[in-house]
Amino acid sequence: MTRTRTPVVAGWFTADAEEDDFRLLGTRCSACSAVFFPREDTFCRNPACPGGELAEVPLSKRGRVWSYTDGRYRPPAPYVSDPGVDWEPYILVAVELAAEGMVVLGQAAPGVALADLAVGAEVEAVPGVLNEDQDTTWTTWHWRPAPTPEAHS
Ligand SMILES: [Zn+2]
Repeated sequence: MTRTRTPVVAGWFTADAEEDDFRLLGTRCSACSAVFFPREDTFCRNPACPGGELAEVPLSKRGRVWSYTDGRYRPPAPYVSDPGVDWEPYILVAVELAAEGMVVLGQAAPGVALADLAVGAEVEAVPGVLNEDQDTTWTTWHWRPAPTPEAHS
């Protein structure tokens, strides 16, 4: 059986992109340039802004670890957690995107250990899988250490 790959939240990231092109998606206000993630499609939340058009914008692929922690307990509902499957500890990373001036939470990619992370270390957003059911692979984003220093041009 082939499962359909479906973003767990529509419009928050590039759903069909290859790993190199994968980006989180926010929105930017045309009047004040504020960037929102999660995306804000109704009105600019900047109280000093007269209000502009909100357009979708890809966020920086890379950021720096602002904080991180590991979750060693099975999360409570409504988090999807199959009681028939051994609970896997996971790592939650808060990543600062300098260009956008924001911190974005996400899980570390499978295989990333606490020892692989450090505050200030560069990480990148990559496609990930939140969970799978009979018909659907629910996709999300993960953070993982950036493989090479970003090229400076
Ligand atoms: Zn604005």
